[in-house]
Amino acid sequence: MFVLSVNGEMISTDFDDGSSVITFENADDTEWRCAACGAALSEEVDGYADESGSLVCDAYDPYEDAEVDDVESAPDFREGPHCAERVPLSWANSATICTDPDEDSITVTVSVGDPRGAFAFTVRRIPDCAPTNGGRLILHTPYPGEPMPHRDLVEDHAGTYWIS
Ligand SMILES: [Zn+2]
Repeated sequence: MFVLSVNGEMISTDFDDGSSVITFENADDTEWRCAACGAALSEEVDGYADESGSLVCDAYDPYEDAEVDDVESAPDFREGPHCAERVPLSWANSATICTDPDEDSITVTVSVGDPRGAFAFTVRRIPDCAPTNGGRLILHTPYPGEPMPHRDLVEDHAGTYWIS
């Protein structure tokens, strides 16, 4: 039996065929939030707006505003813009681990683009009865120039790619 755990906690994942799949999905589609007031933000043409549509932050502090050189000319407290920061992991749609006894493989997928697809990383054992390489492990990874890529990759150096 293959056991999966989440943050150290074992979880039951047995299927009848002995395979197991665990998927983490990003339930939060907010890409930006305010570092001062914590509100979820959307990117508008004239700045970042909270859910009420306001570009003004109730927690604005001109002394905390990195854009301000001279506090005298800055907006007053609670009258300046939200301080937009990217929400950690907002780039991810989902991540999945799949163990497959039939294929003698484990696949990890990470989706960062079209949510219907993902980058897939598979380690598989070649069957002992194979004419060559029987019993060896092989690793498949996404690569630049791959047909139908999840996202295009540009090699930075061996084993490291920029996702374009
Ligand atoms: Zn704010």
